Amino acid sequence: MSYHMTPDEFRAAGNAAVEWVARYLEEVENYPVMSRVTPGEIRSQLPEHPPADGEPFEAVLADLNQIIMPGITHWQSPNFFAFFNGNASAPSILGELISAGLGTQGMLWATSPAATELETHVMDWLVEMLGLPDAFLSSESGGGVIQDTASSSTLVAILAARERATAYSTNETGNLGHLTAYTSSQAHSSVEKAIRIAGIGSDKLRLVDVDSEYAMKPEHLERLMLEDVAAGKTPAVVIATIGTTSSTAVDPVRRIGEIARRQGAWFHVDAALAGSAAIRPDMRWLHDGVEMADSYVVNPHKWLFTNLDFSALYVADRSQLINTLSVLPEYLRNAATESGAVIDYRDWQVGLGRRFRALKLWFVIRHYGIEGLRHHVGEHLRLARDLAVQIEQHPDFELAAPVPVNLVCFRHREGDETNQRIMDTVNASGEAYFTHTKLDGKLTLRMAIGQTYTEERHVRHAWDLIVQAAAD
Ligand code: PLP
Repeated sequence: MSYHMTPDEFRAAGNAAVEWVARYLEEVENYPVMSRVTPGEIRSQLPEHPPADGEPFEAVLADLNQIIMPGITHWQSPNFFAFFNGNASAPSILGELISAGLGTQGMLWATSPAATELETHVMDWLVEMLGLPDAFLSSESGGGVIQDTASSSTLVAILAARERATAYSTNETGNLGHLTAYTSSQAHSSVEKAIRIAGIGSDKLRLVDVDSEYAMKPEHLERLMLEDVAAGKTPAVVIATIGTTSSTAVDPVRRIGEIARRQGAWFHVDAALAGSAAIRPDMRWLHDGVEMADSYVVNPHKWLFTNLDFSALYVADRSQLINTLSVLPEYLRNAATESGAVIDYRDWQVGLGRRFRALKLWFVIRHYGIEGLRHHVGEHLRLARDLAVQIEQHPDFELAAPVPVNLVCFRHREGDETNQRIMDTVNASGEAYFTHTKLDGKLTLRMAIGQTYTEERHVRHAWDLIVQAAAD
């Protein structure tokens, strides 16, 4: 007696599922981008109790179409310009599928050697592809590891910084009242979250001033650090951002790195979105000074056509990360680990279990090649610059920040109320979706141009909708 799908049933259902995804991607452009359901609307259509008896896959797919789809916001629509893009792509989807099919758990090299070795390999490839420092290579002192999100990447980097700053004693003693951390007022909220979780405490996180382009002011950083040292504190970590969330400002990484080094602080660089642009030689400047970093994070799941979740964390000295996170219970002991010849990525992250995520980036790189990736990222960059020119030329609108990568921040000159109205009108139309931030206390509209399938016509249409909404 078995309730499992037979191989033939799986084949039929699997073909239907792949067909479903293929059709979805063909049609996604026509869906209203932002879901319009009200809170509770989806749940109210689901049966209160789980089914006692199994149901045919077709019935599940039918409910997916009827109940679930209206509650989906279409991140893979080419008309999606909100937040930062979260790329998916066909080869990446197939990588996810096969990873799920294998169902391996790669916590140790020994639990699936290929999962670890492919991960090490594609992470080394990415160093070469993005022009990152050699120290991040597994053949050097450092190495890369796939995390679920940039938030996790930053957290483990800050944990390693904390340990290094306390001679690896805090894991045992838990006592760290004297440590301080530094980032700009424009840093992503994941930095504050990590500082809290690491026990450093958000009141020890100094927010460094930014200049008129929203990039960190190094001289203010240095002043804050010196004040803390004079007060008997230990500056433990400095976090710079390449491509801030509000406006993709690029902090002066080299100067910040020099200051961090002078003060003996760990230097972490958050390039979650913008780092992917460095796949293009003309954008390599983004990584200027990253060789000063102890750790660095970029999210291929944002802008390198690789499905969520895939965050690439690099460290310049892997022993510091491993010393921070490794706990070896008897039941995980094995000959390969003891030989010292293998990487066990469980020692590089918070969780123990880990999915085989390297597969999807491997599929992506092999499908597109470096040239293909450069082309599509380059198109996004071009479209963002073109939109910026149109905004500059329009008498009623102004750019709110420079456009170093693919995010365009702008405003209608009439002020917050008009901008809010424009955004609400366009988003309610379902024809495009974008979000806002505040810069200098003013409501600012943001269009991130980086969805996998976005073309010139989509950006033009969104801009037409915005101009039309302003005129109404
Ligand atoms: N860092 C920056 C600069 C971001 O823009 C974001 C998200 O947009 C993050 C970190 C957090 O990314 P994740 O969702 O992978 O934790």
